[in-house]
Amino acid sequence: MNLRIPGPTPLPAEVLEAEARPMVNHRGAEFARILERVTARLKESFRTKGDVLLLTASGSGGLESAIVNTLSPGDPVLAVTVGAFGDRFAAIAEAYGTRLTRLEVPWGEAADPEAVRAALKKHPETVAVLVTHNETSTGVTNPLKEIAAAVKGAGKLLLVDGVSSLGSLPCPVDEWGLDVAVTASQKGWMAPPGLAMVSVSPEAWKAHEKAKMPRVYFDYKEARSYAERGQTPWTPAVSVFYALDAALEMMVRQGLDNFHARHAWAGDRVRQRVKEMGLQLFPAQERYASNTVTAIRVPASVDDKRLRRIMLERYGVEIASGQERLNGQIIRIGHMGFFTDADIEATLDALASALNEIGFRPVGASRA
Ligand SMILES: *Cc1c(COP(=O)(O)O)cnc(C)c1O
Repeated sequence: MNLRIPGPTPLPAEVLEAEARPMVNHRGAEFARILERVTARLKESFRTKGDVLLLTASGSGGLESAIVNTLSPGDPVLAVTVGAFGDRFAAIAEAYGTRLTRLEVPWGEAADPEAVRAALKKHPETVAVLVTHNETSTGVTNPLKEIAAAVKGAGKLLLVDGVSSLGSLPCPVDEWGLDVAVTASQKGWMAPPGLAMVSVSPEAWKAHEKAKMPRVYFDYKEARSYAERGQTPWTPAVSVFYALDAALEMMVRQGLDNFHARHAWAGDRVRQRVKEMGLQLFPAQERYASNTVTAIRVPASVDDKRLRRIMLERYGVEIASGQERLNGQIIRIGHMGFFTDADIEATLDALASALNEIGFRPVGASRA
């Protein structure tokens, strides 16, 4: 089985084995050692000297934590959204009573740092900006470094959804000035779902002091204070900690830069072969195409459900459909976390064979 959806991702044997280990006391010495080791390695991976906190939740819980820990009801917030996950981050902020302005970009395009700068000039009262680094629903990676420069240049708090980028794509948190950056164990980390990992900058801690949003389970101060004693405030997903610990060990052994380079290779390879098949990438500009997930337009003559069913039933390859308004319009191939070269080639072979079975012929292609 070749699971090629953009999370949850397949797990290496070492990680599966680690996950199956017996329980320990989550308030004991062994868990404390694991928490300390995982946190230290995550800081290295995030390239931050600030705090990294682990919350038992999926990525969306991490996004909610960023809102409730740094903002107050009524705060003016700018949400930069380029797809379904940008909309979700905005919806969470809105549900908690922020005064939300949206900078919406057509799906398939990346956010323009100049447009962010202009929006902040037009709304100088803004206290925080929400942005998605890698928009998993459209296969677009935003130019986060430049967007961050615009946001930090204006002196605003920057909350980043890095759920499908941190770990697998370069995202140096301190260098770029990200105040809260959120990721999740089941995306680019070769680990199962269950943990959200969030970095918190000194500026975010300052915002936390004044933030009046209601919060209990996700309170960063509680998480930090327990972490100092090698614990979490609530019962953690112990098995996911084992798995993430083993995955980080592998990532460190491989080298974090090499891990990024593998994703860059996979992104290039998938785009190259997809174009050779006569298919069109969904991202409007290829330079913003993601190296963790590739979104591909479904040709008008092809039924995407049938295509995905053939790939799954005949070749054991599972890819993802489009979300929300992109359902039926695009397919998505995940290449984040753990994959071999052969996994990538087999996925592309299955796609080519399934297209052939359906009778798809790219415009202008000659019949063999
Ligand atoms: C997967 C994902 C999420 C949501 O994470 P869950 O773990 O499903 O809650 C949020 N943002 C992005 C960019 C994602 O890829």
